[in-house]
Order: sequence, then structure tokens, then C-alpha cells
Amino acid sequence: MSEPLYELYAIRYGRQAERCRRENVLNADRPDERMPIDYFIWVVKGPDHVWVLDTGFVPAAARKRKRQLDVTPDEGLARLGIDAAAVEDVILTHVHWDHAGGQDLFPAAKFHIQDSELSYASGRCMCDADLNLGFEPGDITGLIEKLFARRLVFHDGDATLAPGLTLHRIGGHTAGMMVVRARTRRGWMVLASDATHFYENIETDRPFPYFCDLRGVYAGFRRLRELADDPALIIPGHDPLVLERHPPARPDLVGLVARLD
Ligand SMILES: [Zn+2]
Ligand SMILES: [Zn+2]
Repeated sequence: MSEPLYELYAIRYGRQAERCRRENVLNADRPDERMPIDYFIWVVKGPDHVWVLDTGFVPAAARKRKRQLDVTPDEGLARLGIDAAAVEDVILTHVHWDHAGGQDLFPAAKFHIQDSELSYASGRCMCDADLNLGFEPGDITGLIEKLFARRLVFHDGDATLAPGLTLHRIGGHTAGMMVVRARTRRGWMVLASDATHFYENIETDRPFPYFCDLRGVYAGFRRLRELADDPALIIPGHDPLVLERHPPARPDLVGLVARLD
């Protein structure tokens, strides 16, 4: 029997328009030129199951960090016909504030996470100002609550979730940064999340300038290229070009949901 094919969607729920290249690209040329960033969650739809990647952020975090929230992540999912309250499997690519802030929108879910991500985000590195910058303490305590409620599913490295759907630890950006690979009608695609924020990061070998291990970021770029059948099938985590390079999931979802596969 052949492996199932998955449908992949990117939901852009937030943005930050006023931002410049030096904030997105290490040693950027034209460092002061404007370069907006987008915020996404992703959906992997199989024949009989749905996985959601990341939980996004919620209004309080948007105010605190001065980001624009277009729709709450659960509203974005609802527009695509998915009830966040009924989702059973959420994959946390990593637990930065813009990926783990919406945990409470998924009351029925188990959360997939790398061992190294939870230990990093709840351990001694969070004493260091620049390393803890990307995390919200409330998101981490939320994960500890879920740990004791047996709602975390731990992975250590690579794992198979279902035929044609795998997880891969990348590291670099955070200790337990992971990506998802799915077999689609376009071939093997990789939802890279913050293993490459923008197409430019991986295409020009210039990382996003926030990481815990620069060597790991570069090793991650190599791994992403191995995992995808074609470089065009690597979907970056924050690039506005994702919505330009892929069609809307439906005509009424232009600018909100792209169909990636
Ligand atoms: Zn991140
Ligand atoms: Zn991010």
C-alpha cells in the first residue's frame, strides 16, 4: 500500500511591518532597509487526522511585544474549518513566545516536544538575558502543568508520527528546535518553522540573528536540504513570501491561509 499524501496549510495570523533587514539576517547587506516579518501556524491534514504545528501568540503577548495580531490562531483555524478545541495533536516546533503562547486554545490536545527543548527552556540557560529573550515564563509553566497532566509527548531526535509524516530535531535556533516533514503531491516537503525564518536565510547561508548555537543553525540548513525533495519545498517560518509563492487555500482566504502542497 502506498503512503498517504498530506495537505499542508500555512495560516498567517500576525505581522510586524516595521522591522529592518539587520533584525532578520545576520550580517545583512542594506541593514537598515525595511523587511517585514509574518507570524504563522501550520496545519498538516492526513486522510483521517489533523496535526497543528505551533500555537501562535495571543492578544496579551501581541500588546507586550508590539506585534500586530490579524486573527487569533484559533480563529485562523476556524476559517479553515478546524475547531482548535477539538485538535488532538499539536507539534511544538520550539517554545518561543510566538510558537507556544496559544497553548490554552487547544484544551484537548497533546503537545509534541523535544526533550532538549523543555530542558533548555526550563533550565540554567534561562538565567541568561539574551537566551531567555524569546521565551515567556507563563508559556513554560503552562508546559510544566501539561507535563504533570500527561499531555506532553516527548521526542528525542527524529520520530515517525504516521506513514509519510516525520519529526526531525534540528537545534541551532533553540536547543530542541524541530521541523516536520510530510509526503505531499509535490514530494517531500518540510515545514521548517524557525530552522529558517526567511527563504533568504537558507538560500544565502545567512542565519536569522537570534540562536543558541550558530553551528547548529548551519548544520540545520544542510539537514533541511537533505529532508526536502527540492529547495522550493522547504517552508520558512516567518517569511511574507510564503503567501506570495503559494495560492490561497480558498478564494476567501487570500492573505490568511496558503495551501502549500
Ligand atoms: Zn523562534
Ligand atoms: Zn518564531
